[in-house]
Amino acid sequence: MIAAAAVVLLGLFIGSFLNVCIYRIPRSESIVWPGSRCTACGTPIKPWDNIPVVSYLLLWGKCRHCQARITPRYPLVETLSALLALALYARFGLSAVFLIYYLFACALIVITFIDLDFQIIPDRISLGGIVLGLALVYWLPVTYKDALIGLAVGAGSLILIIYGYYFLTKRQGMGGGDVKLLGMIGVFIGWQGVAFTIFTASLIGSVVGLAWIAVQGKDMKAAIPFGPFLSLGALIYLFWGKALIAWYFMLMRPY
Ligand SMILES: [Zn+2]
Repeated sequence: MIAAAAVVLLGLFIGSFLNVCIYRIPRSESIVWPGSRCTACGTPIKPWDNIPVVSYLLLWGKCRHCQARITPRYPLVETLSALLALALYARFGLSAVFLIYYLFACALIVITFIDLDFQIIPDRISLGGIVLGLALVYWLPVTYKDALIGLAVGAGSLILIIYGYYFLTKRQGMGGGDVKLLGMIGVFIGWQGVAFTIFTASLIGSVVGLAWIAVQGKDMKAAIPFGPFLSLGALIYLFWGKALIAWYFMLMRPY
């Protein structure tokens, strides 16, 4: 119980740091210096105004100095980080696997929100993740062979899809950032996870895309980045992948 509470608390504070990464990495600013500032008036934020979720609620979502609205995404990312930390702790216990997969989940959170804002996936995270993942595979429930095949299948299959899509529609649906992201996912969860991630991301992406067209009344393919769906697919695999695959093959049985 105390361990679970500590995990949630740590998840909240790391979530706060993830917000800094999401804002600064695509703007090529340092993620360690200077300290947090209001993005509207530039006033440094005091430590007691920088407590995850709590400060946002106490300040009614506004800067103490200039009253500018603080985006609710900050407490959202902090909550997301804490929930994922707790869920991974429940799944893997206090272990190296837990720590490494939480790091992986943090990278996916940062990638998701940067991709939503800028339609880019920074190489620092995706390529960095590939290198780091290869160094950490030893502690994961993934063999080196599965991780390397995952890297090749992840990057390779997406390159094929991008070229195939371009050949058929003369449009570019995804970019090189998605290729490197899926390569990174392959290293952390193996080729089985990559296959599951592509399938799940395409399925959820299609549903969201169709809903978007229904609501907006027009085709907005270019406006929906694919990175968040790949990230979501990989996270679903971490928790329910094996069970869902078993269930799917049971449904497909001919007798
Ligand atoms: Zn301000």
